[in-house]
Amino acid sequence: MPAPPPRVAVVGTGVIGAMTAWHLAARGAEVLAFDAYGPGHDRGASAGESRIFRTAYKEGASYVPLLRRSYELWRRLETESDRDLLTLCGGLTLGPPDHPDLRAVRRSAAEHGLDIEVLDAAEAGRRFPQHRLDDDEIAVLDRQAGVLRPEPAVQAALARAQELGAQLLPYHPVTGIDERSGGGWRIRTPRATYDADHVVLSPGPWTGSFERLAGLPLRGRRITAAWFAARDIAAHRPDRLPIAIRRHRDAGFSCFPVLDGTAVKIVPHHLAWPDADAPEDLPRGADAEFAQAASAAVARLLPGLVPHPVRIGVYAEASSADEHALLGPLPGARDATLLAGFSGHGFKLAPVFGEIAASLVTEGKSPYDIAFLDPARFTA
Ligand SMILES: Cc1cc2nc3c(=O)[nH]c(=O)nc-3n(C[C@H](O)[C@H](O)[C@H](O)COP(=O)(O)OP(=O)(O)OC[C@H]3O[C@@H](n4cnc5c(N)ncnc54)[C@H](O)[C@@H]3O)c2cc1C
Repeated sequence: MPAPPPRVAVVGTGVIGAMTAWHLAARGAEVLAFDAYGPGHDRGASAGESRIFRTAYKEGASYVPLLRRSYELWRRLETESDRDLLTLCGGLTLGPPDHPDLRAVRRSAAEHGLDIEVLDAAEAGRRFPQHRLDDDEIAVLDRQAGVLRPEPAVQAALARAQELGAQLLPYHPVTGIDERSGGGWRIRTPRATYDADHVVLSPGPWTGSFERLAGLPLRGRRITAAWFAARDIAAHRPDRLPIAIRRHRDAGFSCFPVLDGTAVKIVPHHLAWPDADAPEDLPRGADAEFAQAASAAVARLLPGLVPHPVRIGVYAEASSADEHALLGPLPGARDATLLAGFSGHGFKLAPVFGEIAASLVTEGKSPYDIAFLDPARFTA
């Protein structure tokens, strides 16, 4: 007789837990998916209208096979859920040619035969006048890049998981996870307790509220986004404005085209990302200092935008000591998988990370080389 399917508790269903629940349910696992809030909420890391997808990856060439698989899975989720989640509008990395990020993008593209185009300042200015470049700067265009829709993506993955049999438990904050003496886990919430054979921990920036994760080098941090009105909205939509990562001697930011509204979003990288160990306590607006610094960068580098923010969004994200995720067995525990510390670049990879987590739970191994993400690198 075949073994019964494992009962798996997924704790935290931002994009990472949602994708894990989808893949687990597709493999026939009995999934309990807990979250303190509702699907697609804006308190954690998986909100804010848009996310970058790119394949020419400055964070390291080891990510490229994972990104390729993630791309396939984004398309699969779109088909299964009948929703548009990823628009391939291309991606620009702009800045001085010797900036480490521009060098890394070109190296990653060369190693993996990716389709990129390198534009000098004059050519970039002709094709993408939305950006102002200094004469000695360049732009690298990655055609396999685009913009993801975070809230619909979380909702689509959870809806699909539910269709495949997962039990969704929104508004169920988990107050404790205890190893049972006979094996497996007991999950405590204010309403009830639940037993599971395996626990997947994907709590985003709330890692600090789990005693089990104390000792791992994870820290919550606050990332602020600002939206600026476009003077010519049509020129700033995805068909004319790729997503962009801007590096400049005075500023750095990611930049997202107008999607539903009238404004371009930027996420400044040159301003501090302060600690945010209690995401509930985040201020919901930004101080004048942030607004002025972001405005100065826009005035200098994005001439088609009115350089005063019309909207500010404050989010929390967990980062790790080496800025790579912790994905693998939870150190010191049995039948527990950790997915945490995505360090500002986890969204695009969420579908493949969820697939890997489901493989770890159901087969005890990953189909991809993820040794560089193993949480045990910090405890060995
Ligand atoms: C502003 C910003 C911009 C970013 N830009 C990009 C980008 O362009 N491209 C990219 O690839 N990545 C980007 N990232 C990173 C990416 O968005 C994150 O890595 C990703 O969303 C992390 O998802 P998560 O599921 O781990 O966390 P979250 O989305 O925070 O999910 C964690 C979930 O756990 C739940 N939870 C926590 N504790 C409990 C508990 N005790 N009980 C029940 N539920 C609990 C929370 O309610 C939450 O829903 C960005 C991040 C931010 C913040």
